[in-house]
Amino acid sequence: MTRTARCHCGAVTVEVPGEPQFTFMCHCEFCQRRTGTSYHLDAWFSSEGAIITGETRTYTRSGDRGDSLVFHFCPNCGSNVYFYLPAVLPDMIGVAVGCFADPGFPAPQASLYEYRRHRWVEVPAGTVRHERGVTL
Ligand SMILES: [Zn+2]
Ligand SMILES: [Zn+2]
Repeated sequence: MTRTARCHCGAVTVEVPGEPQFTFMCHCEFCQRRTGTSYHLDAWFSSEGAIITGETRTYTRSGDRGDSLVFHFCPNCGSNVYFYLPAVLPDMIGVAVGCFADPGFPAPQASLYEYRRHRWVEVPAGTVRHERGVTL
């Protein structure tokens, strides 16, 4: 199955074939500030088959282990559509699950940084829960 993520205004799209290799919900402070909501959902795919359209700007920050996370966002509407972890997952692309706007999208396999989780947020049954991050 091929899915297409797109930003709020539609200028940036990412088409990815196949199923995500893993999906996370992340409650970390950075994801809360980055998305403006209580947690972020990301799905990781092989970057090989990904088709990206539209210009993006990037914001790079260091992760817990000092590795870079590169966030690509639409300069027109600001949606953060996709991201890379080049040192850790060099052949993969992370895509914001919300940008697929697909209620049938698979549930997250893991829940990260639970110590920052808004206490009313329910985690799906079967999702592996971590107080902080995981080593990939
Ligand atoms: Zn946009
Ligand atoms: Zn996070």
